[in-house]
Amino acid sequence: MKWSYRIARIAGIDVRIHLSFVLLPVIFGFIGWREGGLAAAGESVLFILLLFFCVVLHEFGHAMAGRHFGIRTPDITLLPIGGVAHMERIPEKPWQELVVALAGPAVNVVIAVVLGAILAVTGGLWIVTPDAWRTLLQNLMTINLALVAFNLIPAFPMDGGRVLRAVLGFFLPFTTSSRIAARTGQVMALLFVAGGFLWNPMLLLIAFFVFNGARQEIEYIRQREEFDALVADMDSREDRP
Ligand SMILES: [Zn+2]
Repeated sequence: MKWSYRIARIAGIDVRIHLSFVLLPVIFGFIGWREGGLAAAGESVLFILLLFFCVVLHEFGHAMAGRHFGIRTPDITLLPIGGVAHMERIPEKPWQELVVALAGPAVNVVIAVVLGAILAVTGGLWIVTPDAWRTLLQNLMTINLALVAFNLIPAFPMDGGRVLRAVLGFFLPFTTSSRIAARTGQVMALLFVAGGFLWNPMLLLIAFFVFNGARQEIEYIRQREEFDALVADMDSREDRP
């Protein structure tokens, strides 16, 4: 991806950040600073960095599940709207795609449970600025659960859309289930546009990403069907006496 730079290499996978990602801590730091000075700015930046650390772990969830099925992930790239694990290919066996798609959100469930356990065990025993730390951990736990819920919206190519395709794939051919999942993704993208105007402009960016991704998938499926039809046609000609 253009304008992206490698910041680490973990388990053979390059972790890259897109240049636009740098905007995120800057914007959140500025909002924090305006609301509560330098300390609030620091808290905002720390929170956003920890959040994206959780996003990286989420992407590693997908990558490690993929590796289990022999699929390589050369890199994970962080964008302001989230992370993308660039896998060499997507498993077409429904249960494999299901496992790979669910592995990301599953990581956020584990993080939320660990944070919840830490909060329960320490229960206000923090010595240094207890309230700020508690709030930070609580917010991180909440946002990890929100990430699980959001990612499972059936908006292909988001995780929930892949889960939908995998589940349909148990009953339907790959091309049919792909087309249904991608069309559903496009409908979801339109709902995100509405949500973007009503609640959070960030949803507009996500809507663009989802709609475009779904459109590319529909195009890929169309080409593939044409190719399959061509091959079938050639086979039938060869069969003629
Ligand atoms: Zn994911």
